Amino acid sequence: MDYLQGLNPEQKAAVQQIKGPVMIIAGAGSGKTRVITYRVAHLLRSGVDSFNILVLTFTNKAAKEMRERINHIVGPEAKNIWMGTFHSVFSKILRVEADKLGYPNNFTIYDTDDSKSVIRAILKEMQLDDKLYSQNFVYNRISAAKNNLVGWQEYQNNEQIQADDFSSGRGQMGKIYEMYAQRCYRAGAMDFDDLLFKTNELLKRYPEVLNKYQHKFKYLMVDEYQDTNFSQYLIVKRLAAVNENICVVGDDAQSIYAFRGANIQNILNFEKDYPDLKVFKLEQNYRSTQNIVNVANSIIANNKDQLKKNVFSEKESGDKIKVMRAFSDNEEGKLVADAIMQQRSTTGEKWNDYAILYRTNAQSRSMEEALRKNGIPYKIYGGLSFYQRKEIKDLIAYFRLTFNPNDEEALKRVINYPKRGIGDTTVDRIIVAADKNNLTPFEVILQAPRYVEKAPASLNAFAAMIQSFQVITKNLSAYEAALHIAQHSGLLKDLYEDKSVEGLNRYENIQELLNGIKEFSEREDIEEKGLDIFMQDVALLTNDDNDKNKDADTVSLMTIHSSKGLEFANVHVVGLEENLFPSQMSLNARSDLEEERRLFYVAVTRAERKLTISYATSRFKFGTLINCEPSRFLDEIDAKYLELDFTAKPAPSSSFGNERTAWTRKTDGQQDTYSKPKAATSAPVKTTSILAKAHVPSPGFKPSDTSNLQVGMEVEHERFGFGKVINLEGNKPDIKATIFFKEIGQKQLLLKFAKLSIV
Ligand code: ATP
Ligand code: MG
Repeated sequence: MDYLQGLNPEQKAAVQQIKGPVMIIAGAGSGKTRVITYRVAHLLRSGVDSFNILVLTFTNKAAKEMRERINHIVGPEAKNIWMGTFHSVFSKILRVEADKLGYPNNFTIYDTDDSKSVIRAILKEMQLDDKLYSQNFVYNRISAAKNNLVGWQEYQNNEQIQADDFSSGRGQMGKIYEMYAQRCYRAGAMDFDDLLFKTNELLKRYPEVLNKYQHKFKYLMVDEYQDTNFSQYLIVKRLAAVNENICVVGDDAQSIYAFRGANIQNILNFEKDYPDLKVFKLEQNYRSTQNIVNVANSIIANNKDQLKKNVFSEKESGDKIKVMRAFSDNEEGKLVADAIMQQRSTTGEKWNDYAILYRTNAQSRSMEEALRKNGIPYKIYGGLSFYQRKEIKDLIAYFRLTFNPNDEEALKRVINYPKRGIGDTTVDRIIVAADKNNLTPFEVILQAPRYVEKAPASLNAFAAMIQSFQVITKNLSAYEAALHIAQHSGLLKDLYEDKSVEGLNRYENIQELLNGIKEFSEREDIEEKGLDIFMQDVALLTNDDNDKNKDADTVSLMTIHSSKGLEFANVHVVGLEENLFPSQMSLNARSDLEEERRLFYVAVTRAERKLTISYATSRFKFGTLINCEPSRFLDEIDAKYLELDFTAKPAPSSSFGNERTAWTRKTDGQQDTYSKPKAATSAPVKTTSILAKAHVPSPGFKPSDTSNLQVGMEVEHERFGFGKVINLEGNKPDIKATIFFKEIGQKQLLLKFAKLSIV
């Protein structure tokens, strides 16, 4: 049992408790994921059959890493374990059972773009105001309903929901939801939320199916449990109901997906659901230095809603957390790139040891530019997936149609690409005829002259082509089938003839996809290697999953959301500014602001050795230069852990107008476009804190000039209330004040951030 030596006593106890329900709610870096990994190894060593284990992770990447580690401990036996995200695991099960729900087993998975396209078509048909019923609003509303297991019938019959919709002037929502569900059903398609929603339906309606999987998955484990939604919670609960060998691990302080329906209540429910629950506490953080852990603790202490935990590190105290101030977003990029260059040259670390984390994808631009200028290799995680590129989606649409000709979104995508004289009017007529005659659009096309007015001859040819693909691909390997379709659809020729740089790029991407399929055809570890099998998971892949250069030595760039569970020696958290982080949208409710704070907690706890935080005092947003205030989160960190680096000097104001700075990027989902901004304005953006406060500031509260603050003076802080200055240290402008507040006790604040009024 030598592998158990890499665990502390509490971790070891959790690993060895293999029977019955187990929950570990513990702070970041305390070894929760490690416990799951070792637990699986321990189950196998204790004689549990690898086919009886199910591990649910938050990303495919996490599942892959875990499998590699288990493989390392127990050998190839690890291969049989079911391990993956909720979506990938349950789509696999649905592929086997879909016919029970009236779906074809080769159902299509609609991605978000497909879903929104269906919604747009419905809104157009119903002639609804697309401001009131924006596609995003409708999509989110349907998604939320599904994740709470509210089907369209229930939605329409629920008085509360109906009242809410009517009062917001969106009384047609129920009807839209119904049409959306029916369109997807007709197309033989499930959207992302359906993969969970339909799994629940399956397990609820078919006790024999439930029974089968309850007996298959005798041991269940869930990582990042704090981010499961109701639909996921119920799947786990159902599957675990017989054996109750269920182990969940998570950290309420890292719950960052409430906006997508994740429900912290699932942790609290767990205790109620399993009265025999064994709870383990992990308090030691093995990832980060003491300073980093202390900063993380001081950040999260500002949240009211949290389960109290004591997290400590026994590593060295480490460097203080550096705070860098820049005068523009581009300068912030430069400071970060310079800092990485300089540190790496003295420490000899790898580029892999550095990560830059940001709140929004748009912030990557200034970082990328600076890294490129310095010749620093980098990789952006979680950006536009390879599989989301237009040309890739086009070819995949042909594959989708081949296996499921009822797939309406795939049909609409390629019916006239490459051009074959089938215009929008014809497509509209096909859809109308399909609705009227209760047929699928493909069935209408097969009998076009009967149903479609002025049907072009090419409609027939198109249908015949798809049917020929269906026949031919049956006897070909995945690669041969894919190549046949790429050639005979005319897609490859169309791209080949486009000699522009973009055209060349697209052609290369198609080659890349074909190469990937070739590799798949040649794999020896799987038996079924048809194109249909390759296609099954494509909609669930992200660009991090097909990373060809995963061993390349690069700096990692990603949003904080995608950094969950990961760790890096050196972390830069950038853009610590009001209205950016915390985001402007979070300022209306305490719960939203607390979610932003948890996000900040996730960001800082990714760092092992060195954490650097930065902000800019001006930034281009939507093409306009705005002034920014430092984030309130900086104010919340106890100043004794911080080291300020304000050496950057403001650039001459005219430099804001130079070409490079003045152009901003807009991402439209397919490609980046650049646009010239509106006239820059230097008017400061006034941030008024609308945060619900424990302390309500006195009427007319106004931060005073505190440059001459003296020990003994009485002050009022915007949020901490009244207090007395008990110590001052440091030099201007970086003076730190220790203040004793009546309500919350002693706190050390950096005067220049502190919102203080001298009373
Ligand atoms: P997060 O909340 O960020 O997901 P976590 O609780 O899942 O973190 P892990 O990623 O499992 O934490 O562990 C953090 C780091 O500490 C990893 O590098 C892990 O290998 C290491 N670690 C955990 N426990 C021990 C231990 N007992 N001895 C040595 N290293 C450990
Ligand atoms: Mg983890």
